[in-house]
Amino acid sequence: MFHFAGASCNNCDIEILDCLTPRYDVERFGMVLVGSVRHADVLLVTGSINQKCRSRLLEVYRQAPKPVVVVAIGACGCTGGIFAEGNTFAGPVDKIIPVDLYIPGCPPKPEAMLAGIVKFLNK
Ligand code: SF4
Repeated sequence: MFHFAGASCNNCDIEILDCLTPRYDVERFGMVLVGSVRHADVLLVTGSINQKCRSRLLEVYRQAPKPVVVVAIGACGCTGGIFAEGNTFAGPVDKIIPVDLYIPGCPPKPEAMLAGIVKFLNK
């Protein structure tokens, strides 16, 4: 999986890192964070998407090998959250690229992220 942080406050990003620690150990589900989206089949998106990062998200999505599973994480990723009314807001993630999985929360706990990922894997 590759992690794209939009205009995030970084709390969702920290919770993703928590999933990678031995305590939550997301690697037991075969999920590893990679440094390039070209090596990923899951794209994690956190934070609201503003006008500045919109084009970067599109470029990252274009570079991802298809099919790629897009996961919108947190209230900001799912809807724009508290930034949705801002004048630089460029739309929730699913208005820019297709989203397969939504994990709400502000921030979602690691348990919620793992539950969402396991549900998706089972599907
Ligand atoms: S959903 Fe909440 S915790 Fe996550 S980036 Fe937005 S404001 Fe921060």
